[in-house]
Amino acid sequence: MIEVTNCPICNGKNFVPYLQCCDHSVTQETFSLIKCTKCGLVITSPRPDDLEIQKYYASSTYISHLGTAQTLLDRIYLFARSFTLRWKWSIVERNILPTLEKKILDFGCGTGEFLRTAKQHSWNVAGVEPSENARTQASPEVFNHIKSSLPNFSNQTFNVITLWHVLEHVSDLDSTIGDLKNHLTQEGTLFIAVPNHSSWDGKHYQEKWAGYDVPRHFWHFNSKNMLMLLENHSLELVEIIPMRLDAFYISLLSEKYSHNRMSAVGLIKAFFYGCFSNVNAKKNNEYSSLIYVARK
Ligand SMILES: [Zn+2]
Repeated sequence: MIEVTNCPICNGKNFVPYLQCCDHSVTQETFSLIKCTKCGLVITSPRPDDLEIQKYYASSTYISHLGTAQTLLDRIYLFARSFTLRWKWSIVERNILPTLEKKILDFGCGTGEFLRTAKQHSWNVAGVEPSENARTQASPEVFNHIKSSLPNFSNQTFNVITLWHVLEHVSDLDSTIGDLKNHLTQEGTLFIAVPNHSSWDGKHYQEKWAGYDVPRHFWHFNSKNMLMLLENHSLELVEIIPMRLDAFYISLLSEKYSHNRMSAVGLIKAFFYGCFSNVNAKKNNEYSSLIYVARK
């Protein structure tokens, strides 16, 4: 297990105990969250090391990487994913600078669904996915473009680099952002989507909030510390884009975790809490998940 003693964003050394969260989707083990008193980054600490973490991804109920749905929640997830893929692509197209070369890297690409979407729009695609299980399930159109780690693409640069709910899973924040920046062209655009624990749903559900997803999520960001992280790497923020659908899906999962089952009442509550979260975020921009668009 790894205990975090220095904040990777502000280098602060003072932390306060924050929450005790259960790994609801795989082991039911409890993990501690601590909060940096300087920048507000919430950290899963102690957390499993790179070897230990593997068992926390090994579950038939962890479907982020799988294409088959077994439960109602899984079906909702997959329906939302198909919609979200098209929406994410529209976000990318709208926020990039005009370019002749069309090369995209999806970091933490899972089974490569987003890369398939990019390929359908005639982009050259590359993906990094450490999970062999996910890589082997990628469809034939993108299979050969997905590698286990970034060094496989040494000397290559990309106009677009995307991290869709991936940064919270990486063990070394600084080297990840630094390495990705080196792979970004001078006019390139970086898209980083992460959950936001300062959202209404994050505050409402507290330790039951599905956005914590311990111990797979090592870092729990809000917009203040995400902006600091970008600034540390001299990346210029272009825009912050809300992911409104996440408020519903995260509320749905959080309802399930709160009552250890999914019920019709839970479904209705999740719908209303998703609405509350999005309406509340209109005032302060603290949506359930946010996409940070940045350039060099
Ligand atoms: Zn900090």
